[in-house]
Amino acid sequence: MLELIHSGGVHQVVTLNGAMLARASGDPGLRETVNSASLATADGAGVLLAGRILGVRFPERVPGVDLVAHLFARGADRPLRVFLLGARPGVAAAAGAALAKQHRSIAVVGADHGYFAAGAEAAVADRIRRASPDVLLVAMGFPKQEEWIAAHRDSLGVPVAIGVGGTFDVLAGLSRRAPRWMQRAGLEWVYRLVQEPHRWRTAATIPLVVWLAVKERIAGRAGAAR
Ligand code: UDP
Repeated sequence: MLELIHSGGVHQVVTLNGAMLARASGDPGLRETVNSASLATADGAGVLLAGRILGVRFPERVPGVDLVAHLFARGADRPLRVFLLGARPGVAAAAGAALAKQHRSIAVVGADHGYFAAGAEAAVADRIRRASPDVLLVAMGFPKQEEWIAAHRDSLGVPVAIGVGGTFDVLAGLSRRAPRWMQRAGLEWVYRLVQEPHRWRTAATIPLVVWLAVKERIAGRAGAAR
C-alpha cells in the first residue's frame, strides 16, 4: 500500500469477504469494482476456503482494521495524511483521534460521517479533495463504500482509498472485536454473529461462496486466480 501511495495513480483497495464475493457474482457493477481494485485482500473464512478449493493458499485473513493498523505502524518517510469518511456522526473524528494517538506517523486531515444526503455528496467530495489526503478510509459498509469509492476515486485524486466496514466503530470503542484466539481460528464471524444476529445473512453466504469456487474449479479457471 505504501508503494501504491507513492506510485502517482489513484488506487482502490478492497477487503473482500464472502458476502461481497457472493454479491459480486450476480452484480456486474460490483464485480467490475472488485476486479479493478489495485489490491484485494482475503477478508473472511469463506474467501480463504474458496482459495483452498481453487488451489490458492492465502497466508492469512486480512480485515480492513488490521490492514490499516499495519500500514500506519509501518510508517513512511513523512507522516501519512489520512481522511476518515463514514459511520455515525462523531465516530469518524473519534476513530481519527484514536489512530493519531496510536501512530505518530499519521496526520488526520479530516473526518466526516457517512449518513449524508445524496445532495451533500459534492460537498463531501470537495472537502476530501481540499484536504488532499494520501489515504482515504471509507467506513459505510459494503457495497455502499466500494461503490462510493469507485464513483469518486478519479475525481478525488486520492492515492489510496479503502473500504473498511465497521473499523471506525471498533477504533472509537463502540464495538469490540472477537478475542485473538477466535480471530486466529478463523471464527471472528461467529463472534460477530452472536453480537449482531442480523449478520446471519453474511454467514449464510458461505455455502454459496463454496459453490462458486467449486464451479470455477470445475470450469478449470483456477489458474486465473492470483
Ligand atoms: N454506515 C454509514 N453510512 C451508511 C450505512 C452504514 O456510514 O449509510 C456505517 C455504519 O455506521 C458502520 C459501518 O458503516 O460504522 C458499517 O459497518 P459494518 O460492520 O456493518 O460493515 P460491513 O461489515 O457490513 O462492511
